[in-house]
Amino acid sequence: MTSPSTYDIIGIGIGPFNLGMAALLEPVEDVTSIFFDESAEFKWHPGMLIEGADLQVPFLADLVTFADPKSHYSFLNYLHEHNRMHKFFFFNRFDIPRSEYNHYAQWVADQLDHCHFGKRVTDVIDREEDGERFYEVVVEDREAKVTERYHAKHVVMGTGSIPLVPDGFDEFPVEDVVHTSQYLCHKEGLVKGNEDILIVGSGQSAAEVFLDLLQRQDTGGYHLHWITRSPGFFQLESGKVGQEVFSPDYVNYFHNLSFEKREEELPNLYHLRNGVEEKTLHEIYDLLYHKSIYPNTAPVTIRSASDVKTIEKTDEGRYNVTCHQWMEEADYHVEVDKMVLATGYKPNLPPWVEDMKEKLVWEDEKRFKVNRDYSLAFKEERPNKLFTVTNIEHSHGAGATNLGLAVHRNTTIINKVAGRDVYRESKNTVFQRFGTEKE
Ligand SMILES: Cc1cc2nc3c(=O)[nH]c(=O)nc-3n(C[C@H](O)[C@H](O)[C@H](O)COP(=O)(O)OP(=O)(O)OC[C@H]3O[C@@H](n4cnc5c(N)ncnc54)[C@H](O)[C@@H]3O)c2cc1C
Repeated sequence: MTSPSTYDIIGIGIGPFNLGMAALLEPVEDVTSIFFDESAEFKWHPGMLIEGADLQVPFLADLVTFADPKSHYSFLNYLHEHNRMHKFFFFNRFDIPRSEYNHYAQWVADQLDHCHFGKRVTDVIDREEDGERFYEVVVEDREAKVTERYHAKHVVMGTGSIPLVPDGFDEFPVEDVVHTSQYLCHKEGLVKGNEDILIVGSGQSAAEVFLDLLQRQDTGGYHLHWITRSPGFFQLESGKVGQEVFSPDYVNYFHNLSFEKREEELPNLYHLRNGVEEKTLHEIYDLLYHKSIYPNTAPVTIRSASDVKTIEKTDEGRYNVTCHQWMEEADYHVEVDKMVLATGYKPNLPPWVEDMKEKLVWEDEKRFKVNRDYSLAFKEERPNKLFTVTNIEHSHGAGATNLGLAVHRNTTIINKVAGRDVYRESKNTVFQRFGTEKE
């Protein structure tokens, strides 16, 4: 028998995905759980909580509503508890400010006693005692600097993503070459006393930073450069029928495809996942237009089809950036004081997953096989599941990091662990049929 303190679920990481899991588990008395996060408190992408930036999904994609609209932890109840319901009513929008989503999630995290911050999970060990298998989760308390050990029947890995910085660009001081994930921490240094600032990338984060710096350009007096490898600065596809790929039905369809077909399918959905919101692009263009009335007051250079290749520090303490225009097959140089890299993120896979490598089934060299219920596939079937809500794009499709599907994922996992339908699993949710499956 495992010790009585063995939890049914230990959640690693408390981003929105596992925070939603913790909120949904709170009223479920027969499933015990505990969650750990290495940060001191809940903060949702704090470096990008730019004033005016909105959540890219409707507020209904909160932490619980898709499973339980009556939950205490719904966004509407958050508004109610903060006496903001009327303001929200007159605000009359589905896309809430990103800062408000963060404040809402903090309100939820503050009420959940089984969510523990300042605790870094350093290892997950496969254990067996008296014929019972479990996971030993090793946790470092970051303040007390002590190591704690917890036992779990099942583990949910929700370690999120980490910044993707191109090779060679991580060798410079972060206040000069900053990834968007830390943009707001370094913004004051960016806007003061610089002649040239370069933004690299053309996704939503790049556009938001460009817009933010453009709005401050009059006081900052800098030249803004915006360069992307993409062939252009494109809008995110937002047609409603197209958006239905971010639904439980599509996840089922996608997961049933072969690995090769899934690989083929992901680029087909590129414009639904990459690009800039129409609203942000319009705001940028309108501001550029207004500023163009008085030439040279707001200098900008915008270039696409350009690979930013290398960066060198000059004797004057500036940066010489070499770019390759891949259509013309020609190099050019830009000299700047500061640079913001909007180069995206990659899944944050802890080292202990690598330690389990031999036991796991892999779809290719880098990607583990994930079952439909979000458990990792082990070569030897096991009752103790290691669920993941991180690094599942190849297995569950384009909505892998979408907040709108988080509750659906958590519902699947909770029902699996509980062995019953604690929450109703959504089926036939959209107008389309994705495969040949009968209605
Ligand atoms: C700027 C930005 C805006 C986004 N906006 C939207 C949006 O509007 N709509 C949408 O659908 N999606 C959006 N996304 C995508 C996605 O919803 C978010 O990335 C979301 O935060 C993912 O949640 P998560 O819980 O997987 O991971 P994260 O939010 O990345 O959280 C992971 C947590 O795990 C913790 N952690 C990691 N390793 C350990 C460890 N070893 N021990 C303990 N804790 C650990 C980290 O401290 C972190 O708190 C956005 C992404 C970004 C970067």
